[in-house]
Amino acid sequence: MSDATLRGKRAIVTGSNSGIGLGVAEALAAVGAEVVINSFTDRDEDHALAKELADRHGVAARYIAADMSKPADCRALVEKAGGCDILVNNAGIQHVARIEEFPRDKWDAIIAINMNSAFHTTAAALPGMYAAGWGRVINIASAHGLTASPYKSAYVAAKHGVVGLTKVTALEAAGKGITANAICPGYVLTPLVEAQIPDQMKTHDMDRETVIREVMLQRQPSKQFATVEQIGGTAVFLCSEAAAQITGTTISVDGGWTAL
Ligand code: NAD
Repeated sequence: MSDATLRGKRAIVTGSNSGIGLGVAEALAAVGAEVVINSFTDRDEDHALAKELADRHGVAARYIAADMSKPADCRALVEKAGGCDILVNNAGIQHVARIEEFPRDKWDAIIAINMNSAFHTTAAALPGMYAAGWGRVINIASAHGLTASPYKSAYVAAKHGVVGLTKVTALEAAGKGITANAICPGYVLTPLVEAQIPDQMKTHDMDRETVIREVMLQRQPSKQFATVEQIGGTAVFLCSEAAAQITGTTISVDGGWTAL
């Protein structure tokens, strides 16, 4: 793909001051998109990240603070950005506990950030996409949008919900130049995941490689992490003309997890 493919398109990526979101923003900027990155904080380093992206890729880039647990913030993000051609719903959090012990506030936060935010941003972004006759909605779901694990009730429910929302978005927008798809990553080596490795090494009394292979990637047949660059590349592909008839579906980037 030429480096000007998405020139003239504006992308909003929620939850993108680290990890997969930042990787997706980087990949979209690398092919010419103007990018709006986001999280709930409003620190100098958040704005500096946007400036670095802009300088590295010769595109416009802004950081807009908005808390994806709040419906009004979700909609305000799209408004402050001036609408978007590409919406990537990526913000997400996790909590692990048995259902009967799952803290109510954690359930509410995960459903709000991981699922409800995608509804609010999509609702705010679609009118502009309809007017432009072109749009891409890309929801970062998970292998847990297609399959389950114990102790992740809220996360699995939210990610299955996001996959359902993706299908409805695709049906309502079909034939109007707009596609909606969900990327379903398996384990991706983000700073968040990297930070868990030392604890897991202690807990299981294993070296780094064994923890990665036997514990973290137990269900990922490739025994390799997916990378943020691979998720970013998948998002860029979904924005391409080759993907114009791919809509309402999921693309797994999970090393074979969901083939099991
Ligand atoms: P991460 O913690 O690095 O990124 C999460 C991002 O969301 C951060 O930028 C964080 O600031 C932001 N965020 C959190 N709460 C927010 C809020 N209230 N408002 C706005 N932004 C908020 O984690 P990640 O691994 O990059 O995860 C990104 C997405 O990918 C999540 O939706 C996650 O469920 C999904 N995912 C991750 C993996 C993985 O293995 N890392 C696998 C499958 C799916």
